[in-house]
Amino acid sequence: ATMPPLLSAIANAGRHGVLVKSAVVMERLGQVDAVALDKTGTLTEGSPRVSDVRPLPGSPLSERELLALAAAAERPSEHPLARAVVDAARTRGLDLPDARDFASAPGVGVTAVVSGREVAVGAPARLSADADADGAVARSAADLEESGRTAVLVVVDGAPAGLLGIADRLRPDAAATVAALTTLTGEAPVLLTGDNPRAAAHLAAEAGITDVRAGLLPQDKMAAVQELESAGRRVLVVGDGVNDAPALAAAHTGVAMGRAGSDLALETADAVIVRDELAAVPTTVALSRRARRLVV
Ligand code: ADP
Ligand code: MG
Repeated sequence: ATMPPLLSAIANAGRHGVLVKSAVVMERLGQVDAVALDKTGTLTEGSPRVSDVRPLPGSPLSERELLALAAAAERPSEHPLARAVVDAARTRGLDLPDARDFASAPGVGVTAVVSGREVAVGAPARLSADADADGAVARSAADLEESGRTAVLVVVDGAPAGLLGIADRLRPDAAATVAALTTLTGEAPVLLTGDNPRAAAHLAAEAGITDVRAGLLPQDKMAAVQELESAGRRVLVVGDGVNDAPALAAAHTGVAMGRAGSDLALETADAVIVRDELAAVPTTVALSRRARRLVV
């Protein structure tokens, strides 16, 4: 017996490293006419490295102390930036004290108590609003962001202590994937990111994306998708983080990056890229379209 086209398309997608969760999803993938991509871990490799450790002028902390406190607070987090911070501390042989009272806010950062000190690590604009009277945080962050790096602020006992610069690379297949998706839908994908506009625009341009929405919280990503959907578009969302889950749920079809994706993203998505190749997304859309033409 021959397999129905949508089922053999699912098997075919599997050979390309994509787990499509149902025949209904396999069918919906071919209906999409707009694409929204997450940045960190989706358009980029998601294995960012700490490139700069900068205590703020007047901070009593050394570079090593600053990095150790940040890494201790980040250790329980599954965010790619958190892993970069912990790796940098380990590479330098730093001892990481245990963190208590860990909490994370998707799209913002983390907080924890480390050696009796309250440590917050995250987006400078969100953590320093009240505490950057002289603009030192904003200047240091802007300097890092101009070159496409993500600036992360470390706040200790309520006072900004320093910044970390974190550099991530575009996936090798990012530009080809953007081009293929543009051909399939007739329009370039949009980039939805919680990161700062400077770093986002820098990376997006390299990948061939000009429509960049930055500084978004998880609910803002979802709202951007809903806006496209209510304008009649069928939106394909590709993401990896906890912060992408609401957008993945709101999408016509949600696809999660599987290798380093958060559990919530994998559960919420309709399909999962298991082999970590972004280019499998347009391939799977094309497989769906072919199968749909065979379904009578
Ligand atoms: P993206 O949308 O690009 O995947 P996120 O929404 O996950 O990015 O994060 C947005 C911003 O929030 C980051 O650029 C960073 O400034 C901050 N942030 C989020 N989680 C963390 C974390 N665990 N450590 C440090 N910063 C974080
Ligand atoms: Mg992400």
